[in-house]
Amino acid sequence: MHCPFCRHADSRVIDSRTSDDGLSIRRRRQCPQCGGRFTTIETASLNVIKRSGVIEPFSREKVMSGVRKACQGRPVTEADLAVLAQAVEESVRQTGASQIDTNEIGLTILGPLRDLDEVAYLRFASVYQAFDSLEDFEASIAQLRADHARDAAD
Ligand SMILES: [Zn+2]
Repeated sequence: MHCPFCRHADSRVIDSRTSDDGLSIRRRRQCPQCGGRFTTIETASLNVIKRSGVIEPFSREKVMSGVRKACQGRPVTEADLAVLAQAVEESVRQTGASQIDTNEIGLTILGPLRDLDEVAYLRFASVYQAFDSLEDFEASIAQLRADHARDAAD
């Protein structure tokens, strides 16, 4: 890429390191013409299509804030939310898609959220799966109970 200082058409990579989560690479570059140093960050492109049609980069922080509301008053920490958001990002990236809509992200959140806190899960599912009656809650709770019974039997 062009040097941001003098617009020279080339630059040399002087250092390259992968982020802790392995999802991005930072490269320190130096311009051979003016000697200016700058950093580039390379990530696999992943965009979210919002209901309004607006496209924006995937953000773990947005996942966390969506889930945080459902977790109000529940014993869920910020660290739990961060782990959940990372799991969601990894599972979305594993699909190989470069674009995903917010509804698919909501559905991807359900699995890890259920493991984290079942009340928060029910609150979140009621929005993302568009529960519109008590029967929807009952069916979802019956499913949780059935799974508990199965786990107890294991
Ligand atoms: Zn330069």
